[in-house]
Amino acid sequence: MDNILNYSLQELKDLFKINGLKPFRAEQVLRALYDGKNFSSITNIPQIEKESILGSFNCDLPEIASYQQSVDGTKKYAIKLFDGNIIECVIMQYKYGNTVCVSTQVGCAMGCKFCASTLGGKVRDLTAGEILAQVIIANREMGGNIKDRKITNIVLMGCGEPLDNYNNVTKFIMLVSAEKFINISQRNISLSTCGLVPQIIKLADDGFKVNLTISLHASNDDDRKVIMPIARVYSIKDILNASDYYFDKTKRRVYFEYTLVKGVNDSEKNVKELANLLKGKVCHVNVINLNEVKERNLKQTTKKVAEDFVQNLNNVGISATLRRSLGEDIDGACGQLRKRVMEEL
Ligand code: SAH
Repeated sequence: MDNILNYSLQELKDLFKINGLKPFRAEQVLRALYDGKNFSSITNIPQIEKESILGSFNCDLPEIASYQQSVDGTKKYAIKLFDGNIIECVIMQYKYGNTVCVSTQVGCAMGCKFCASTLGGKVRDLTAGEILAQVIIANREMGGNIKDRKITNIVLMGCGEPLDNYNNVTKFIMLVSAEKFINISQRNISLSTCGLVPQIIKLADDGFKVNLTISLHASNDDDRKVIMPIARVYSIKDILNASDYYFDKTKRRVYFEYTLVKGVNDSEKNVKELANLLKGKVCHVNVINLNEVKERNLKQTTKKVAEDFVQNLNNVGISATLRRSLGEDIDGACGQLRKRVMEEL
C-alpha cells in the first residue's frame, strides 16, 4: 500500500477527497507523522475515520532496527523498511547544527571499488516518503519536532546514488523543503553524486538549487576507471562541464569529494592534475582519507600524505580541506552498518 509520506499536503488533500475521506484530516495526519509520532497515537481523529485512512494508505513510520553512537557523538541508525530491507541513516553533530545523512536506495548499482554500499548491488530505489522518513526519525531522535526542529542540514550521501533515483529524490527535496512541516531550505541540502551527467543538467534545468557534490576521487579518467565503473560512461571533462552548467544556473559553489586511496590517487602527480582540472572554478574540494572496507583490498594513505595533498592544493589557490571522518568507530563507511545488520538478522 502507498506510503502517505510520499505526498505533499495538497496532493494528499486531493487523494483524501477521491477516496471519500475528509480532506482536512490530511493535514492532521501529516502533522503528526512529521512530528515523529505513530499514526496509532493520533487522538484528534475518530477511530472510524482512522481505520478508513488506513484502508487507503500505509501511515506508519519505519522502525529503528539498530543504533550505534560514536565517541564523537555521531549516531548511526539501521532502519527497517516495510518490506524488511535495511537502510542506514546517520546524524552528525557539528558546532553549527545537526546534519542527517540519508540513504536514497537499498544498495547501489554504481560499483565504486572503495564503497561498502555497492557490495550486493542495487536492491531497489527508495520512495520519496522513505527518504523523508529518515529525516523525520532523525529529528525525533534528537528530541525535535516540527515546531522545534533539531536537524539543520541534510546530505544525500548515504547508501545509493541519488541521481540514479531522480524522481523520488527530487520529490523528497520538494517535500522536505516545503514551508509547511519540516521546512529545510535547499541551501541546507547537499546532493552527492558519482557524476551522472544528464541528471546533473536536468537537476539544474528543473530549477533545483541544492548544493551539488561530485564524487571525483581521481585526477584523470584512467585512474578513475580503476575505482569507479561509472568513469567508463562519463569522462571527467563531461562531469566538469555539467558542474559548470549547474553553477551557472544556480550560482551555488560546487563541492568535489576526493577520497584518498594509497597508491591509487594520492601522488603529487595527482595533486597537479587535480589542480589543473579545477583551476578557476568556484568550488571546494573535500579531501577524505579512505574508510577501509574489509571486503575491499584498498588502503588508507598516511596522515602526512593526506595533509600534504590538501596543502598542495591550497598552495595553488584551490580551496580544499581534509574532512574529519566522523563515526569511524561505528561502521562509519557507507553501507557498513546496513551490511552488518542484514547479516545479523
Ligand atoms: N553515490 C553518491 C552518494 C553516496 S556515497 C556518490 O557517489 O557521491 C557518499 C560519499 O562517500 C561519496 O563521495 C563516496 O565516494 C564516499 N565514500 C564511499 N565509501 C567510502 C569509503 N569507504 N571511504 C571514504 N569515502 C567513501
